[in-house]
Amino acid sequence: MNRLTHFKKGLALLLALFMVLSLAACQPTTTEAPAAPVDESVDALFQAGTYTATVDGHNGDLTVEVTVTADEIVSIETTDHKESAGITDLVFERIPAAILSQQNLAVDAVSGATVTSDALISAIINALEQAGADIAALQSGAGSAAATGEAVSYDADVVVIGGGGAGLAAAVTAHQNGASVIIIEKMPRLGGNTILSGGAFNAVDPGRQEAQGIEDSIDKHFQQTFDGGDQVGNPELVRVLVENAYPAIEWLESLGMKFNDEVFTVLGGLWPRAHKPSTPLGTGFIDTYSNYINAHDGIEVLLDTEATELIVENGRVTGVIAKHFNDDVTLNASKGVVMASGGFGVNSEMRDRFNEDWPALTNLKSTNHPGATGDGLVMAEAIGASLIGMKDIQLLPLGDPNSGSLSGNIEQGVENRIFVNKEGNRFVDEGARRDVMTLALMEQTDSYLYVVLDSTNYPDPETQKNNFNETINELIDQGRAFKGDTLEELAAAINVDPASLVQAVESFNEAVEKGGPDEFGRTLFDRKIEQAPFYAGPRVPTVHHTMGGIEINTLAQVLDTDGNVIPGFYAAGEVTGGIHGANRLGGNALADIAVFGRIAGENVANEQ
Ligand code: ADP
Repeated sequence: MNRLTHFKKGLALLLALFMVLSLAACQPTTTEAPAAPVDESVDALFQAGTYTATVDGHNGDLTVEVTVTADEIVSIETTDHKESAGITDLVFERIPAAILSQQNLAVDAVSGATVTSDALISAIINALEQAGADIAALQSGAGSAAATGEAVSYDADVVVIGGGGAGLAAAVTAHQNGASVIIIEKMPRLGGNTILSGGAFNAVDPGRQEAQGIEDSIDKHFQQTFDGGDQVGNPELVRVLVENAYPAIEWLESLGMKFNDEVFTVLGGLWPRAHKPSTPLGTGFIDTYSNYINAHDGIEVLLDTEATELIVENGRVTGVIAKHFNDDVTLNASKGVVMASGGFGVNSEMRDRFNEDWPALTNLKSTNHPGATGDGLVMAEAIGASLIGMKDIQLLPLGDPNSGSLSGNIEQGVENRIFVNKEGNRFVDEGARRDVMTLALMEQTDSYLYVVLDSTNYPDPETQKNNFNETINELIDQGRAFKGDTLEELAAAINVDPASLVQAVESFNEAVEKGGPDEFGRTLFDRKIEQAPFYAGPRVPTVHHTMGGIEINTLAQVLDTDGNVIPGFYAAGEVTGGIHGANRLGGNALADIAVFGRIAGENVANEQ
C-alpha cells in the first residue's frame, strides 16, 4: 500500500513539526482532534486522543477514527467506506468489537472478506501508530483469549456440512422427519451461492404454465436437462430431479416462501419453466429456511465452523471434525452426516487439476461465493467416496473483470446487444450456448469483451436496474460502464478502433433487418442498435458451476469407488456429480439443491 507509506512519511514529518511547536508552546496535544491531555506517565500505552486514518479498501477509500486513552482503545469507528454491502458488514462489526474486547490486534480476518478485513485492520494500525502504540506488542496478542483453543463437542442425530441451499433443505427436512440437526457453516453467514443467484427455479408446473398457455411436461424437462448436459448425466438422477422439482416448490411454499405467478425462460434454461421468488435474488430461500430454524428447537447452526474431516467408525460415517477459530470441534452424528458443502468454483488449484476441456483456468475469477472451495470433495474422497464428472466445469462469458461476479452486467435482453473484442470487432453468435461464447471469448485479446447496446435498453438511465439492482448511471459513475453520444465517442471511451465498432454495429443492424442467420450464425434479433446514447460494459470469462462431484444414488446416499453405499453418509447439491452432466441448464441448480437436499434430509433422518 504505497498510499499508506506516503501517508506515514507525511505523518512523521507532521508529527515532528507538531512536537517542536508543542514543546515550544509547552502545550501538550495530540496530532489530530485532541480529546484528552497527553498522558505523561512512562507506562502509557497510547497518547490519548482521537486519530483518523484512510487506506485503500476493496472499492476505494476506507477511513477509521480510533479513540484511545492512555491505556485503553475506547472506540473504533469506520467513518467512511465504499465496500459492498453483505458479508463486509460483518467486518465492520466484528473486527472493531474483537479489538476493543481483547485490547490487542490479534484478530482474524472475516472469511470471505479478507481484503476489506485487511484494509480495516491496517487503517486501525495506522491510527494506533499515530497514538504512539507498540504495534508489534499489540499484534502478538499476548494473553489474548483468542490465542488459546478449546476442545468442544456436540451430539445430534444428523450433522449437515454447509449452510447453502442444499444443506438448509436437508437440515429442515431431517428436522421435519424427527431428527435433531446441527448445521456447520464455515462462513460467517448462511446462504452459499443461493443468496447470490438470480433465484430462478425450474419446475414443470401445470397450474402456472397452463395459465400462460405454455405446454410442458416432465419428459420434456428430463430430455432438455439430459441432452443439455451432453447426455453424460445419470438418467436416474435426472429423472428424480425433474419429477420432484415441483413438489419442492410446493414444500417451500408450505414453509412460507412466495413465488411469482408468472414463469419465464431463464438464460440458458431453454424453456419457460423458471419460477422467480417474490423477494430479490435468492434471499427468499435462505430467509424461509432461517425462519424455520429460528422457530424450532432441535435444529442448530454453528457459523464460522469449518469441517475438516469425516469421522468413520467400522465403515460408517459417524461424525465430523471441525474448527471454530482456534477451537477444535467434534460433532457426533448418531444417524449420519449430509455433505452439502458446494462446488470448487473458487479453488484455482482444483480447477486446474480437473480441467480437461478449457484453456488454463488458473487466473479466472468466479461468480461463486468465497466458500466454494471444494472442501467436501476432499473430505469425501479421503474416505473412499467416488467422484465423477470432475472435468465438467461451467464458465460464463459475462463476469465482472474485477470480481468475476455477474453484477455490473449492462445487458437487458439477449436479443438487443452485441459483444465486441478489444479491437472493436464482433467475434461470436451472442445467442450461442454459454460454453461456445466463453470459448470464443477466451481466444480474444486478453479474453475481454464489451457488451454494446443502445439507449432503448435504458429508457430511464437513473432508475432502470439490472438484475443486481444497479442503474446504468451508477455503473458509469463507478467506471464499470461507458457511454457515448455517438459510436465513435463510445469507441474512444473504451479505447477500441472507432471504424471497427461502427462497422460491427452496422453489420449487426443489417442482419436485424434481414432477420436471417448472420455471419456468426446468430438468429436472435429484435431491435437495431441505433438510438444514442450508446453504452458499453466490459466482461471476462468467469467460473460459474462445477458439475462434477460426489457420486450418489437416487436416495442421495454416497457411493464408494466400488459402487457400494457408504453407510451414514449422504450428499446433496453442487458437491455431487452426475445430475447436470457436462453442462448445467440455467434454473436447474436451485431445483437440484432443493430436491436432493430434501431426499438426503429425509433418508438420513430415517436411518436407524
Ligand atoms: P449448494 O448450492 O450445493 O448448497 P453452496 O456453495 O451454495 O452449495 O453452499 C455450500 C455451503 O457450504 C457454503 O455456504 C460454504 O461456505 C459451506 N462450506 C464449504 N466448505 C465447508 C466446510 N469445510 N465446512 C463447513 N461449511 C462449508
